[in-house]
Amino acid sequence: MKKMVIFGECMVELVNRDQENLAKSFAGDTYNTAVYLKRCAKNISVQYFTAIGADFLSDEFLFRMGEEEIGTDYVYRCRARNLGLYMVRTDKHGERTFAYWRNGSAATQTLNTMTGKLVDVDMFYFSGISLAILDDAQREKLFVILDELKSQGCRIVFDPNYRERLWMNPEEARKWTDRAYSMADIAFPGGDDHLTLYGHTDTDAIFAHLAPFDIGEVVVKNGAIGVHVLQENAHYIVPVERVEKVVDTTAAGDAFNGGYLASRLSGGSITDAASFGAKVAATVISYPGAIMTKEAFFSHIAP
Ligand code: ADP
Repeated sequence: MKKMVIFGECMVELVNRDQENLAKSFAGDTYNTAVYLKRCAKNISVQYFTAIGADFLSDEFLFRMGEEEIGTDYVYRCRARNLGLYMVRTDKHGERTFAYWRNGSAATQTLNTMTGKLVDVDMFYFSGISLAILDDAQREKLFVILDELKSQGCRIVFDPNYRERLWMNPEEARKWTDRAYSMADIAFPGGDDHLTLYGHTDTDAIFAHLAPFDIGEVVVKNGAIGVHVLQENAHYIVPVERVEKVVDTTAAGDAFNGGYLASRLSGGSITDAASFGAKVAATVISYPGAIMTKEAFFSHIAP
């Protein structure tokens, strides 16, 4: 069985149902990708690599991962910290506002808390958020791990997912994002991320920036417009079927990545993988929240 390790932070998600009631679940960019990847590829071992606290919400999260069949071999307990949390408020016009309580969460201590090593990993996935929440010493530790994994033949996948407020300043973000690109075998640079972080205004500018990093597969999503993939010197443009009634775009990119990688790990071609990723994303944006129920998901995507 192929083994995929996904590194990052999952938080408690609170969403207002009405003025008085909150719905609770668990979400975070890398976790969303883990969930959709596993749902699409039962034959792949998907392990989430993070730290959680000793609080009851951390226990509930562990249980939830079990329900999603996500492996917890690399989930560590940082007893002095809690799980991070965020709240989404949707106003009567459907506009969403987010508030976060994630500073100093357990996940920010993952590399300080981990014991042992990651072994027999075929693919390792992380994002700009996974990097942003760490201090410099832990970022260095992460790059040592990436070096070791690469030397063992593990493929590295990176999605920059730039969140300005998690970084000290844009220079710091650019430095670490470029370092992550330099390790990547597959990258998912986002148009919005590259516009804010590097001032790139089109796909060609993104490809030009990434050229020196020699990334085997560069996948650029662009909403309903289509997906561009550059593999070696081949450039694929994969159309996306527009969803007319979008309910909630939260986790669209994460879901796409999960579907794309599930297909690639199962031997799918670049174009098959991009089409399948788009199908998974189209399903997720037709339902509210980051993680849709399994029942609804499998009514669109065959298990
Ligand atoms: P991100 O969420 O990372 O900013 P995008 O907005 O490009 O990324 O969306 C990710 C994927 O979600 C797209 O590649 C596409 O497959 C799908 N998607 C987003 N918006 C739509 C839409 N209106 N119709 C169909 N698919 C969409």
